[in-house]
Amino acid sequence: MIEYNVKSEQAAEFINHAEISATIEYAASHSHDVALAEQILAKASEGQGLSHREAALLLACNDEGVVQQIFSLARSIKQRIYGNRIVMFAPLYLSNYCINGCTYCPYHAQNRTIPRRKLTQEEIRQEVIALQDMGHKRLALEAGEHPKLNSIEYILESIDTIYSIHHRNGAIRRVNVNIAATTVEEYKMLKDAGIGTYILFQETYSREIYEKLHPSGPKSNWAYHTEAMDRAMMGGIDDVGIGALFGLTDYRYDFVGLLMHAEHLEARFGVGPHTISVPRIRPASDIDIRDFDNGVTDEVFRRIVAILRIAVPYTGMIVSTRESKQSREMVLDVGVSQISGASRTSVGGYAQGAEQEYVDDSAQFDISDSRTLDEIVAWLLELGYIPSFCTACYREGRTGDRFMSLAKRGQIGDCCWPNALMTLREYMEDYASPYTRQLAEKVLAEQVEMLTNERVREITRARLQMIGEGKRDFRF
Ligand code: SF4
Ligand code: SF4
Repeated sequence: MIEYNVKSEQAAEFINHAEISATIEYAASHSHDVALAEQILAKASEGQGLSHREAALLLACNDEGVVQQIFSLARSIKQRIYGNRIVMFAPLYLSNYCINGCTYCPYHAQNRTIPRRKLTQEEIRQEVIALQDMGHKRLALEAGEHPKLNSIEYILESIDTIYSIHHRNGAIRRVNVNIAATTVEEYKMLKDAGIGTYILFQETYSREIYEKLHPSGPKSNWAYHTEAMDRAMMGGIDDVGIGALFGLTDYRYDFVGLLMHAEHLEARFGVGPHTISVPRIRPASDIDIRDFDNGVTDEVFRRIVAILRIAVPYTGMIVSTRESKQSREMVLDVGVSQISGASRTSVGGYAQGAEQEYVDDSAQFDISDSRTLDEIVAWLLELGYIPSFCTACYREGRTGDRFMSLAKRGQIGDCCWPNALMTLREYMEDYASPYTRQLAEKVLAEQVEMLTNERVREITRARLQMIGEGKRDFRF
């Protein structure tokens, strides 16, 4: 039997099947122990996180009192670390050519019915202008795996193009990248190109299920894929984003795997993941989700998010437009700190405009939340959140352990809060509808006076004024 070793370089040791199975068994056998669950919650309330075993026990516990305590603790930790700020981003699909055989994704190589497309640099310009004109400042680049068509040179050139475009007051200030697992050398190139976070979803941590769902292509190598974040870190990328596609297998397995992955990165590199994404599987062309019978109910989904929030308090948590308005509202309340808005999941979807999306069959998945960015910004403001277009940290060199040590000392909020206000003011000036503008004005006037640090308050007040007069891109 392969032994569990959190610091190992080998995937089978740090995402250890025996340890995950033993954790699930331990959690099931202690699931009625309310006193133990409450002891774990008391520890979690100190904000230092939980081990995968402790978190698994909370997830297994169905006692209504414990479940409500989990939600309330998740809310208070979120409030303490992230306040009511929600960071906004949009995905940008560069190419849906792919040589892999992922059975849950319509871009898989065997799908002959989906239109294939790869954006030229000119088409990327059009996409980026459309995104800037909505108000986006932060993108997640997406591309299928194809060594010839989607080579690293193509990705690097695309990143350069994106950063170079300044349409009216628009700018993409942070490009996160979600491309296939690659080599240390190529991760170094991405780092040098100035990417923000490198994002790669594990899909499922179960090796057995992973190998069934990935019958062909380089991605079929579970160990190479699972060790990708280690190579990214060795290549100098210290902000990495992990995630599992819930619904591919038993959610308990992937929940424990995600936390073990986070523990591994922390143990080996001294920095845990920058973000965790929690997508749930959605229908798409050539994909029938009835083939995946591990669907996660809303109630379980909410618990997964809340327990992740308290288990890894300093890791941002992301939900996409795969989720509906209602379910996004539900998880924003218990821990999500970043959401996408007005997303198009097809190649070239932004410049084509909204109507085209629904006649175009090239989307990676159906979106559940199809509102415009302005509608989402207004909705967040109505709910009492502050939509933030902040991209400051990596531009100020606050990445990896620098970021984490500020976060753990509770000081990152001193940057996030005024940055959220200033970027919301930019959005308000440049892109908001009259209704959203009215909501934003009120929130900004109230919030700036609530900033606790007097110096920061004064500077922010002055900068908000200057943004109103046409200046842009202030940051702490
Ligand atoms: Fe290709 Fe990614 Fe889709 Fe797999 S999930 S088929 S690697 S685009
Ligand atoms: Fe994110 Fe840093 Fe901006 Fe805070 S200050 S919202 S952590 S980029």
